[in-house]
Amino acid sequence: MIGLTVLGSTGSIGVSTLDVVARHPEQYKVVALTANRDVDGLFQQCSRFQPAYAVMADSDSALALERRIVDAGLAVRVVAGVEGLESVASLDEVDYVMAAIVGAAGLLPALAAVRAGKRLLLANKEALVVSGHLFMDEVERCGATLLPIDSEHNALFQCMPKGYQQGLERVGVNRVLLTASGGPFRTFSREQLAEVTPAQACAHPNWDMGRKISVDSASMMNKGLEVIEACWLFYTSPENVQVVLHPQSVIHSMVEYVDGSVLAQLGNPDMRTPIAHALAWPERMASGVSPLDLFSVARFDFEPPDMDRFPCLELAYRAITAGGGMPAVLNAANEVAVDAFLNDRLRFVDIPRLIEETMTRCRKLESGIWRDCWLWMVKRGAWRNN
Ligand code: NAD
Ligand code: MG
Repeated sequence: MIGLTVLGSTGSIGVSTLDVVARHPEQYKVVALTANRDVDGLFQQCSRFQPAYAVMADSDSALALERRIVDAGLAVRVVAGVEGLESVASLDEVDYVMAAIVGAAGLLPALAAVRAGKRLLLANKEALVVSGHLFMDEVERCGATLLPIDSEHNALFQCMPKGYQQGLERVGVNRVLLTASGGPFRTFSREQLAEVTPAQACAHPNWDMGRKISVDSASMMNKGLEVIEACWLFYTSPENVQVVLHPQSVIHSMVEYVDGSVLAQLGNPDMRTPIAHALAWPERMASGVSPLDLFSVARFDFEPPDMDRFPCLELAYRAITAGGGMPAVLNAANEVAVDAFLNDRLRFVDIPRLIEETMTRCRKLESGIWRDCWLWMVKRGAWRNN
């Protein structure tokens, strides 16, 4: 039996992971499940999967969960906080860790899994965006196995030749082609973009996802974060990562070779495919995803991204090209801006403005970057959680 911890089990990726795992009960034992504050959701999952541990982000939620666990007579140990997350990511009886917490909050537990030499199934792209170099160095130093869950990166991983870790040039790869649906506002004019609401941004045409990544998809920041993620995962630089709009979301990404060959991975837009791929790798197993019916897809469309209407993508290219702490600055500003937008404190079109202003200020500062950055945001009131 393979022991599994699912970090962020109550979210969209967490639920899909448990759906796949439940199809193979003879192969996987759920050791730990974690959530932010969704006591009810985590309790339901504990009743069904009977893990040894459950982690809540704060002690009040942990207490509330513990009460319900005791009342139900379940043998689940409840712990709280980042230390709790780090400990369940590195337990001896855990072989695989699914990192599906959203945002930079997922970094420390994902890093704990890496440092314990686990197989890390990485959905939490922000972890890699904010700490790329350090994260990849730790993967190598600790002998961990890093498998991408993001559908594009999982597709690239499936299309990569052996030995790509030595550098893409050496193995005959020219570029990676990162596909993007374009999100719900792909065809919107600048005037229409100025009026969009959080509900519209969260209604993605092809994928059913958490609220933060849905807004990122609508602003194209998701693709920007994925460009950065691809640079780290595939040992390449931003000029070798081409974003291709493909509204059908059936081709999940492509690898272009020097001989003109382009290898693609296709499938229905359902995250259970990359999840099952990474759980079973290097074997294959059923995921519950229905077979792709090419006749009903009927056609594939492609177009270049419009960085004028979607400046977040350009800002991400700028951040990874600048290097150093700039991708972390980009990510921090984006997390604050998206939260403000979701809580009706910022317009959609102001998301890239806030990020660009933050990046400009951080570049100008010679020291105390973080302190000044946060002070500035605090003054703007953009940091508050409602
Ligand atoms: P989600 O919002 O649906 O779920 C997030 C999970 O993390 C929940 O279980 C939540 O309780 C937990 N969480 C949130 N904040 C936390 C905190 N501060 N401390 C501890 N736990 C916390 O998000 P999602 O859509 O499942 O996305 C998860 C990650 O996977 C993101 O990084 C996202 O970019 C990435 N991803 C998601 C998809 C998708 O289809 N949903 C696809 C590719 C990549
Ligand atoms: Mg993706």
